[in-house]
Amino acid sequence: MLDIQSIRKDFPILQRTIYDHPLIYFDNSATTQKPRCVVEKIEEEYYNVNANIHRGVHFLSQQATEAHEEARKTVQRFLNARSPSEIIFTRGTTEAINLVASSFTDACMSVGDEVIVSVMEHHSNIVPWQIQAAKKGISLKVVPINERGELIVEEYEKLFSEKTRLVSLTHVSNVLGTVNPIRQLIDIAHNHGVPILIDGAQAVPHIPVDVQALDAEFYAFSGHKIYGPTGIGILYGKEEWLDRLPPYQGGGEMIASVSFEKTTFNELPFKFEAGTPDYIGSTALAEALRYVSRLGINEIAAYEHSLLQYATEQLKQIEGTRIFGEAAEKSSVISFLIGSIHHYDMGMLLDRLGIAVRTGHHCAEPLMHAMGIEGTVRASFAFYNTIEEIDSFIAAVERVRKMFLNK
Ligand code: PLP
Repeated sequence: MLDIQSIRKDFPILQRTIYDHPLIYFDNSATTQKPRCVVEKIEEEYYNVNANIHRGVHFLSQQATEAHEEARKTVQRFLNARSPSEIIFTRGTTEAINLVASSFTDACMSVGDEVIVSVMEHHSNIVPWQIQAAKKGISLKVVPINERGELIVEEYEKLFSEKTRLVSLTHVSNVLGTVNPIRQLIDIAHNHGVPILIDGAQAVPHIPVDVQALDAEFYAFSGHKIYGPTGIGILYGKEEWLDRLPPYQGGGEMIASVSFEKTTFNELPFKFEAGTPDYIGSTALAEALRYVSRLGINEIAAYEHSLLQYATEQLKQIEGTRIFGEAAEKSSVISFLIGSIHHYDMGMLLDRLGIAVRTGHHCAEPLMHAMGIEGTVRASFAFYNTIEEIDSFIAAVERVRKMFLNK
């Protein structure tokens, strides 16, 4: 059992008031708040260890390098990767997917080849492929969803052809909360001899992820969505695949030697880390992962599930509620609309009551088109949220409903 009241003390921002109301932060899918230990780690690094890494003989540079490489090992253990060489530091999920889209397309795809994505992808797992499609003449095949917001596995199977080179799917939908049957989807790709990239941005903060057990070739996530700093994320890749792919960007760190006649590239993981990496961000991310591990990802999942269930039951009591995404397996995200109330109106009025939710298309416009709507209100929960906060949220939604619909 998590001690939520004591956990909340680790997050100073939760003590804030907004328009004289206590902050209720339900925008955790967009980004999570940071525990004191993560922010203190950043301060400690800058005040005591800061020096550029990998190239200095001096003490500080070596200490900073050790901290950065130790952080890589923390991520490796967190994901249960085979080796630290399989962990690439990126700016986030978006950059990780762009890296694979660019390098994989260069190395492994030609005109007419196909990538399978799904209709529930975040733009960051659609647009990088469209950019490659425009450059290289590849095309996208799209897995549809059913009325509960689950991927239709039979339709997914039908999309494979002799031209399929890669599958790129989200583990958990940021809009619907659907937890995809990712192991099954990976197995199906492998049965067709096709590698697969998983967008884990909304999975890693909420459910246990073991990349060896999953067996996907690539897996991406963002630090800021798992209580870490902004600007740092992870691309996990199986070593044999990362070895096969060309560098994504050129610059310092990623080379073995440079001359105008011939440049050779560094070994993994440095081949994919051009320029000065965010070595402060990496150590702060490691601190966040240690924090999450101390609480226990299974305990987090169970508690967040209880919040989801309670909020769903309560929201359904409100007249005119439509919930988008009712998958059997769901993470702690609720997208909804109330009657004809516009999502922006609901979001703005909730904000006036101190409640932070997200409104709009949530960077998933194709999904909105598929559902025939413009946007939703999205409440997304983290382990520091409480049943009392959900009660206040439900009362606020009901108040807004009455105001607009006058009944
Ligand atoms: N994928 C999913 C499912 C997301 O929810 C997000 C962010 O909301 C991203 C990718 C992009 O993450 P980032 O902006 O941290 O790169």
